[in-house]
Amino acid sequence: MFENNKIFILGMARSGYEAAKLLSKYNNEILVTDSQEQDIEHVKELEQLGVKIIITEDPIDLLDSSYRIVVKNPGIKPNHAIVEKAKQLGIPVVTEIEVAYYFKPHNVKVIAITGSNGKTTTTTLTYEILKKAGLPVKLGGNIGYPVCSLVAETKENDIWVLEISGQQLHDIINFKPDVSVLTNLSPVHLDYFENYDNYKLSKCRIFENHTKENLAIINAGDQDVLDSTKNILSKTIYFSSKNSSDLCLKEDAIYYYDEKIISLKDIRIKGNHNYENAMCAIGVCKFFNIDNKYIYDVLSTFNGVEHRIEFVKNVNGRDFYNDSKATNVKSTQIALSAFNNPTILLLGGLDRGHSFDDLKDYLKNTKHIICFGETKNRIKTFADTLNVPCTIVDNIKEAVSLAYNLSAIGDTILLSPACASWDQYKCFEDRGNDFKESVSQL
Ligand code: ADP
Repeated sequence: MFENNKIFILGMARSGYEAAKLLSKYNNEILVTDSQEQDIEHVKELEQLGVKIIITEDPIDLLDSSYRIVVKNPGIKPNHAIVEKAKQLGIPVVTEIEVAYYFKPHNVKVIAITGSNGKTTTTTLTYEILKKAGLPVKLGGNIGYPVCSLVAETKENDIWVLEISGQQLHDIINFKPDVSVLTNLSPVHLDYFENYDNYKLSKCRIFENHTKENLAIINAGDQDVLDSTKNILSKTIYFSSKNSSDLCLKEDAIYYYDEKIISLKDIRIKGNHNYENAMCAIGVCKFFNIDNKYIYDVLSTFNGVEHRIEFVKNVNGRDFYNDSKATNVKSTQIALSAFNNPTILLLGGLDRGHSFDDLKDYLKNTKHIICFGETKNRIKTFADTLNVPCTIVDNIKEAVSLAYNLSAIGDTILLSPACASWDQYKCFEDRGNDFKESVSQL
């Protein structure tokens, strides 16, 4: 399907570029189209490879029945005019994961991780443990490296660890991971999928081509996951931080059936959600017969993915955590639930008019809120009504120094802003880095 053919690539960016580069090696006639100007170096490189690139807002006339397949950037909505036209013409539409899957050496094992939350953490943990154990792993997918970019450097017997989004799964045909993980399901990205049912169906395509020798790792504490995976053919391992399960919490430790894997106190990343991410990674590692020692080594030292409840540093008995990625109240709830000790919470940022009321049941350990950014006055009013001590400051540097002065040994100081960063920063990464820099200067 992907050799000696005419191929239409809709949307360039990184994934279209990598797909075009890979496909150009197999005697294909390739057209890439995008509505926006692209990286000039990438354009030149592709043109030298014989790829035609057309930047236009209106690509509809470019597609005709001579094309064998459309490779769509996963960010482009399924109701795009080109996708509709491809359907009418009977041309299949896929995303780049399907292309990469076609070209991978046959004996490469594929681990695919999806879910509404926890994808990056679970993917990173899995990759780190397998790497520690000496397995030839490659990391890719939604985590920043298109899967097509892995193909050239992949050798026989390598293992791909892939973070996969629902948007990527929406358009697959033969993509068949050896191990598929579904962390959880909640109604997100509904602008793309139109409704929750469509979203769940797309997510569950990660199991669609499974047969009984493939493994599914599934959240038994999530009814939507259970309902959506009733008919899959895979061998299944269940995990849950709530219920007794194949992988679960017992006596303050993670157990795999009757085997104790690690005490919770030895896991650096905190909170039931992170223990669930760890369980998923453990489930994958058990499939590859990894010794518990490597699992322990990584879980006891892994500080979390950057900006996601990332352990930054202990300063004179105070633990600093950076959760700058928490750009909404729901994420801050999760972060607060992860700590049982007295916490000083750094909150604030872009004002979208959203309410902070839903934080109120999560503040039982919060001894002080320090707020900044456009939302600072609204946060102060909210804290005052709950009688939680609260101080307004101008920026994160001031917040860090005040938090340290207000704290005692054993406290957690947590940046989990419940707001986007754009009032004071270019992105949440810059905000998190500013926090970490301020902590390092204490
Ligand atoms: P994703 O890649 O799916 O966006 P991340 O691993 O980057 O997920 O985590 C992003 C945020 O999602 C975390 O800061 C945390 O608030 C929340 N989160 C992570 N893992 C889980 C989980 N298993 N269940 C619920 N929420 C989670």
